[in-house]
Amino acid sequence: MTDLKQATTSFVTDDALSGEPQSLLLGGSKEITLGVMGGGQLGRMFAHAAQCMGFFTAVLDPDPVSPAGRVSHHHIQTSYTDPVGLERLALVSHAITTEFENVPAPALAELAKTRPVAPAASAVAIAQDRAAEKAHFVRCGVPCAPYAVIETAEQLESVGANLFPGILKTARMGYDGKGQARVRNAAELAEAWADMQQLPCVLEKMLPLQLECSVIVARGSNGDCVNLPVQRNLHREGILAVTEVYAGNVPDQLAERAVAAAKSIAAGLDYVGVLCVEFFVLDEANPAAQGLSGLVVNEMAPRPHNSGHYSMDACDVSQFELQVRTLARLPLVQPRQHSPAIMLNLLGDVWPEGGVPPWEQVLALPGTHLHLYGKLRAARGRKMGHLNITGGSIEQVRATALQAAQILGIEAF
Ligand code: ATP
Ligand code: MG
Repeated sequence: MTDLKQATTSFVTDDALSGEPQSLLLGGSKEITLGVMGGGQLGRMFAHAAQCMGFFTAVLDPDPVSPAGRVSHHHIQTSYTDPVGLERLALVSHAITTEFENVPAPALAELAKTRPVAPAASAVAIAQDRAAEKAHFVRCGVPCAPYAVIETAEQLESVGANLFPGILKTARMGYDGKGQARVRNAAELAEAWADMQQLPCVLEKMLPLQLECSVIVARGSNGDCVNLPVQRNLHREGILAVTEVYAGNVPDQLAERAVAAAKSIAAGLDYVGVLCVEFFVLDEANPAAQGLSGLVVNEMAPRPHNSGHYSMDACDVSQFELQVRTLARLPLVQPRQHSPAIMLNLLGDVWPEGGVPPWEQVLALPGTHLHLYGKLRAARGRKMGHLNITGGSIEQVRATALQAAQILGIEAF
């Protein structure tokens, strides 16, 4: 375990890293390895994209059967904070990225002492903390839901009535709607905060949503920034269920604002890598939306995102290739969506007890692209894969997606 020489087959030599930052691309004479912190499905799809371009990949994840670890040239099985594991990752990698936002920021900072790391620990640290994240949005002039930071009993006491009904969210480590409670008044808020062990939290005003959307941008170290088209997202029980991407999915003017906001949020972080920014579009007829701009930012993820998976089949550059390009300092060109697309998330819920979903029926539909993450145990709410549907027209894509949903037992949308 601690024998570094045994653990690796190739070492990054310092000449590959010295001097001016330059692009990393396989020249034919030596292995160029891209490292990733985290071995989940996002890391797996990153590894696939990197390998398509000739790179070798290294994954650090404690799970011996992690989806990305199983498809990478190197799999370092230690905790994310283990100094030996981090040293080994740095030893085999020419540059390192992350695939989940809860990777300890100090681990990224440690890696950055010897290797290029993108996104930077400082940007990831902001995205990990809802209070810091919201402060960043405000700094960038992008409106978010009215909120209050709750870290002390005094802050709890002084919450304004305008924030009710609201959602109390833990500042750190929340995902898929976990670590959240809906509260109608100060008494419920106090109870919910106690239930959350009085961890640092953010209380957000509950907003009337017309729809939810997200934007993925990729920003290079030279400041070049490109984006994928605006994605319209449907969540069920706090988890992304369906993403629809085609002309008219979101009113044009709001889509333009969302792209501009995502780019300014990335630029404000001096961000390098792929960043996803999630937005709420408000139902302006509802009095609770009064005084707010029609588009407010929800949160950001410093990595590719579930809502960007359609880009693997519907765009000429996928979000994972964008991640590879930003990490390897390769040119960024504006991706082009060549087909309308719908993505259905395949949660463990669609797996019948002891069996597998009827893939033959799904794959018999035109324009269906099945992506499974190699997870051997299906569980409720667990992300097992996704189904992308592409086609010649929006109507056709919608019709096929609804058919696939019906076959899989996914509620119509
Ligand atoms: P993930 O990181 O998986 O996207 P999360 O746990 O960080 O999820 P949020 O994005 O904060 O959770 O919230 C999950 C969902 O709850 C949102 O997509 C939205 O549907 C709803 N929601 C969150 N905040 C609000 C709000 N202020 N007003 C109305 N609905 C909200
Ligand atoms: Mg979210």
